[in-house]
Amino acid sequence: MARLELDSVTKRFGDGPDAVVAVDDVNVDIADGEFLVLVGPSGCGKSTTLRMVAGLETVTDGEVRLDGTRINERGPAERDIAMVFQSYALYPHMTVRGNMRFGLEESTDLDDEAIDERVEETAAMLDITELLDRKPGALSGGQRQRVALGRAIVREPAAFLMDEPLSNLDAKLRSQMRTELQQLQNDLDTTTVYVTHDQTEAMTMGDRIAILDAGELQQVATPLEAYHRPANRFVAGFIGEPSMNFVETTVEDGALTAGEGLVYPLAGDAADAVAGASAVTLGVRPEDVRVSADGDPADVASEHVFDATVDVVEPMGNENVVHLTLPNGPDLTATVDGLRQIADGTDARVGIPAKAIHLFDRDSGEALHNRSLDDAEMDAPNV
Ligand code: ADP
Ligand code: MG
Repeated sequence: MARLELDSVTKRFGDGPDAVVAVDDVNVDIADGEFLVLVGPSGCGKSTTLRMVAGLETVTDGEVRLDGTRINERGPAERDIAMVFQSYALYPHMTVRGNMRFGLEESTDLDDEAIDERVEETAAMLDITELLDRKPGALSGGQRQRVALGRAIVREPAAFLMDEPLSNLDAKLRSQMRTELQQLQNDLDTTTVYVTHDQTEAMTMGDRIAILDAGELQQVATPLEAYHRPANRFVAGFIGEPSMNFVETTVEDGALTAGEGLVYPLAGDAADAVAGASAVTLGVRPEDVRVSADGDPADVASEHVFDATVDVVEPMGNENVVHLTLPNGPDLTATVDGLRQIADGTDARVGIPAKAIHLFDRDSGEALHNRSLDDAEMDAPNV
């Protein structure tokens, strides 16, 4: 049981002009029992952040606190925190049982019998009982990752840190393990920080997600908040697949303009949000772009409907990803129902509903306006 706080945590590698600021003034307050996913592109500082929490890397500035106590100066073994690595890091010469026992023998003064009991219990929980007497070399990747998890769980630590633990598994197994890990974390109710570059893992696993770019924290929010109310263009583009459409526009006479093909009148909150701005990025998610091959999409006001040509349709089965071009205007991606027949090269009308648009300051990337939602849509409990 533990609350974990990162208070203005900074990591610099090296000194002087060659110094690399890998983690820049990161603040996150992780509640007891919370599952926080730290997500961002490769090289953004995720592993460095986690390693500072684990005690594997010194903290240059700021403070890491466990239940209110500063732990910066404690060694990894004195933190009561267990880490799971992508590479499993199992001892090859020890059996699974040996690997699981090892951490416990190091970190507790339990007697042999109690250790055995815990190992058996944890193995049963992870469904690896029949593997206990094998060595890692005789296990599949998925089984090894289970053992690595088991070695962390058996210690009953105050917190788990996981660094891309599923990255080495194939897609099917990864999605299965994702579900299992969530279930496990729910049952154990242990504070967990889970690092991934995969926005799908972040969306599906986290109670909250912390999005990092170039060492800087962009937003800490529930997955749905980050998806529907991104703090800035980076978050908007990083979360969601296919990615949000972005159109660079100028504001003229209360309308967003991108060439002759797109003049998008604004009203209400959206109009207020761009008052005084001249360069604005229009964002709209592919599932919100309406496509019609015969006439205007019915649920979109006519001033928000435009001529377009269908370039390419990618059938995914459940949906079609439709790539469109507006004449003298931008390209857009739309997703539509998989059973809809839309041919490459078709002329179409596309609608961009006013309630679905996001607006970003073109210089800073900061969100000026996010899509409107019924409160009920956002506040549904994350069960
Ligand atoms: P991520 O896990 O998000 O891919 P890392 O935390 O591993 O990113 O790295 C963040 C940045 O810090 C990168 O630019 C990386 O090159 C740099 N970095 C990481 N470890 C070291 C190190 N020991 N010395 C110098 N630079 C490092
Ligand atoms: Mg990493």
